[in-house]
Amino acid sequence: MRVLQVSAEIFPLLKTGGLADVAGALPGALAAVGCDVRVLLPGFAPILADLCTPTVLAELTAPWGEILVLRQGRLASLNVWAYVIDAPALYARPGSPYEDAQRHPYTDNDRRFALLGWVASRLASGLDAAWRPRVVHAHDWHAALTCAYMAFLPPQRERVACVYTVHNLAYQGLFAPRHFFELGLPAAAFAMDGLEFHGQMSFMKAGLFYADHITTVSPSYAREIRTPEQGCGLDGLLRTRADDLTGILNGVDEAIWDPAHDPVIAAPFEAANPAGKACCKAALQQELGLVVQADAPLFGIVSRLTEQKGLHLVLAVLDELLARGGQLVVLGAGDAALELAFAERAAASPSSIAVRVGYDESYAHQIFAATDVTLVPSRFEPCGLTQMYGLKYGSLPLVHRVGGLADTVVDCSLEDLAEETANGFVFEHFDSHALSRALARAFALYALPAQWRLVQERAMHQNLGWPRAAAQYLALYQRLCH
Ligand code: ADP
Repeated sequence: MRVLQVSAEIFPLLKTGGLADVAGALPGALAAVGCDVRVLLPGFAPILADLCTPTVLAELTAPWGEILVLRQGRLASLNVWAYVIDAPALYARPGSPYEDAQRHPYTDNDRRFALLGWVASRLASGLDAAWRPRVVHAHDWHAALTCAYMAFLPPQRERVACVYTVHNLAYQGLFAPRHFFELGLPAAAFAMDGLEFHGQMSFMKAGLFYADHITTVSPSYAREIRTPEQGCGLDGLLRTRADDLTGILNGVDEAIWDPAHDPVIAAPFEAANPAGKACCKAALQQELGLVVQADAPLFGIVSRLTEQKGLHLVLAVLDELLARGGQLVVLGAGDAALELAFAERAAASPSSIAVRVGYDESYAHQIFAATDVTLVPSRFEPCGLTQMYGLKYGSLPLVHRVGGLADTVVDCSLEDLAEETANGFVFEHFDSHALSRALARAFALYALPAQWRLVQERAMHQNLGWPRAAAQYLALYQRLCH
């Protein structure tokens, strides 16, 4: 099964969030179930630099006249074959792949990411005579125009299937209609039955409308996005496509997230031998200037600081967390107001709260390894990876019951403790009172060390690997190709 994966980001080369983790892990996981996977990526500097002995596959002219070189070779850090679009005028920009230094989206993002979809459709129609995909799998709005371009290809001898995965419906890739006519799509595509969305061009809608099959990253989110509350205006379309919409829960890349073999944490540990976790906690407390206290419950946040993540609820219960003897460590970047609010709280209580504004992959590992609880109180969460990293590292997740959080975390209620299914703390209503009660449950369990250990061990043993998801994707590809 030849599969072309199309995405804007890929870990470890370029990452702004969970999309990159998935794009980086899926090729290997699919290869392990027998797929022949290649990836198509924009030519951002770290991606081009990782391409081993690249050759030129083609020089192409985009529909709006842009000249580009399509290079191919093996990505050294992922050991996967890649096609990379070398178009420096579009991609050779430092910093975020999507925004300028003032955090404004680049004004030519429509072209930058339309090109990704356009090149994908060229590969689907046989641009590489030596390798033509049976399935093109596009991820998120950046790659979504793939589905529209493919829908308007001339009939092919062997039909190529198009799968589109929504990692976050809230980021849609909306552009003014005047941009549409330069992208080389037929006028018919700019319609309600197409990619038009309230007078604008929506890349997300192109994916949802034209893909042969839509997946999203958890079963619960697949249901939620068909409701007006979480459908971001696209729930109607998603309801009409309900038979072609599947939720496949993401996995954890255990080559990267494994406390027994993690080179950046203070000491290795595993469920059967958790002693190293205490070392990690003491080391982090020491390094951050927190009181070095083994029995102070340490809470962690590793997150984009955006409204979605529900972190204002944490600010609302922070006094209570401290009053109960807890500590908090935060790593995140995003909204200036949230950055400031957390920084102020850290300045006021430096022995109990440590906040680092920024992005730091190694430090994220150290936080999961050191903390007792990972806080993920998101308003909505398509899948969420940090609660899964928390589980793997024995940092029990405390989450809002929504999306992938609801699919992966079971509350420490008495009955779930008795039934040996509990692995964290879950609150139902998205408000600070409900979070505060979940916090109280976390402190109550922490006061029972033997019980805590049992739950922690269960969390660390949970099967979160990619093989399950890869098997589901493969079954889907096979169904679409027959
Ligand atoms: P989202 O994709 O909405 O940001 P996910 O939980 O799916 O949320 O994935 C977030 C990913 O980004 C995880 O790998 C998490 O560890 C990482 N991450 C988020 N913020 C930071 C940060 N400030 N520094 C390092 N890693 C971060």
